[in-house]
Amino acid sequence: MCGVIGVIGNEENSEAAKEAFLGLITLQHRGQDAAGILSYDFAESNGVQSFHHAKNLGLVENVFTRPVIESLRGSVAIGHTRYATIGRGNVADVQPFMLNYPYGIGIVHNGNIVNYGEVKQRLAKDMHRMSMTSSDSETILNWLAHHIEGTSFKHLEKAVHSIFENIHGAYSIAGILGEGGLFAFRDPMGIRPLVLGKKKLSNGKFGYMVASETVPLHFMGYEFDRSVQPGELIYINRDLELTSSVYQGKNVEPRPCMFEWVYFSSAESEIENTPVYGARLELGHQLADRIAVEMKAGRLQADLVAPVPDTSRTAASGLAERLGLPYREVLIKNRYIKRTFILNSQKNREEAVDLKLNPVVSEIKGKTVILVDDSIVRGTTSRKIIQLVRRAGAKKVYFVSTCPPIRFPCYYGFDFPEQNELIAAGPNGSRTEEEITKMLDADGVFYQTLDSLGNALSKCSLGLVKNPCTACLTGKYPTDMKGAAELTALRRTDRGKSE
Ligand code: AMP
Repeated sequence: MCGVIGVIGNEENSEAAKEAFLGLITLQHRGQDAAGILSYDFAESNGVQSFHHAKNLGLVENVFTRPVIESLRGSVAIGHTRYATIGRGNVADVQPFMLNYPYGIGIVHNGNIVNYGEVKQRLAKDMHRMSMTSSDSETILNWLAHHIEGTSFKHLEKAVHSIFENIHGAYSIAGILGEGGLFAFRDPMGIRPLVLGKKKLSNGKFGYMVASETVPLHFMGYEFDRSVQPGELIYINRDLELTSSVYQGKNVEPRPCMFEWVYFSSAESEIENTPVYGARLELGHQLADRIAVEMKAGRLQADLVAPVPDTSRTAASGLAERLGLPYREVLIKNRYIKRTFILNSQKNREEAVDLKLNPVVSEIKGKTVILVDDSIVRGTTSRKIIQLVRRAGAKKVYFVSTCPPIRFPCYYGFDFPEQNELIAAGPNGSRTEEEITKMLDADGVFYQTLDSLGNALSKCSLGLVKNPCTACLTGKYPTDMKGAAELTALRRTDRGKSE
């Protein structure tokens, strides 16, 4: 998963890169591996250099200094925060990706493509374009570059439609076409989010921002205009004229990823006009109804509800409210340690859990605690946290997941690679709540059901989110899956290198 941003505004007041930088700060939660910005200055197009870029491994604030941002001149810019699913730590894989020919094109990409191997081969064999990185974003850029025959909207549209027809998977993209302007498009199912905002400029025209989430729009004073539609291409030229069209070639319905609401997006964002905060509250309410049945039957009694910080705070507060139990923050997070999943070996991840959270013994001692987390993936964190709370003197520990059991790998951007690593799958593909309770050494484990997840999203989206992508829960993938096995093998080799 990654965060993308694109900005286009006044040529006289070209601060696009500065806005992209500040926007990326608000998208830091979407990826902490690397960051980058590419800008383009129309005024310099007859000079020595009109594209400017800076990118590197690390957090946004470490990659960019004030002089670096000032060197990124121009009224159009794109930016990226990276969460790697392959090639973690490779400087060559850091985005934006750019090509000088034709016209000068740069892109930033959120998502993963499933038929990466096939696309890469076709590019090499048929188009004589060799990959220089392990990134699927590079193949999207090369496909685009090969098929674009001019800088008009129609030219871009034809090339993007060729991507829609040949490249399967998830891609939300922002890009710069030299001499052209800013463009953005989303795969035909809209698996990854992308939103459009606008801001009135001093000359009366509108400047535009596209971003993975609404959080940078609000931060930078852009008004939310709309979500970019699945299969839509948007192009904003130098004169700030916006043109767009939606691909009609594939008769598919939108399949936005459920995990954006459950875990990934920022709580203050709205995705597909559906508030992330509201969705998480509702996930808590739905779970409360399930736990209330256990309480009524006398199978469970609890003294308090506590979140595993940070994401699950909202859901835990909704759950506590509905059950009429006290909400307590009994795990205090060391905010200077990165999310554990970013660490690339199991040993690193396990050690990091110890460093990250400290229990509030005075609130835990002698109590029965319901711990709420957004999801259980490998189970590493959950088992450690349960141990931590027990050691702090809890009488009993129940563990609740706002996400249903994750049993299948994600090919659309999340690093859930091997089925047998997923605790809810195990070697046979499916473990029961009782089995997982034993493995985590909990007194009980309760998952959201698929139906209640659907209810929660549908309720707070007023029916707009009808059929989210739940492939990691059901194994039913919405796209063509040719190439998935090859992608898994590639990832396996890549991970072998970094363990
Ligand atoms: P685990 O120890 O794998 O069960 O991880 C539990 C927590 O880390 C949950 O909050 C997950 O949402 C998060 N998490 C685990 N793996 C990943 C991943 N590959 N990408 C994003 N989040 C993850």
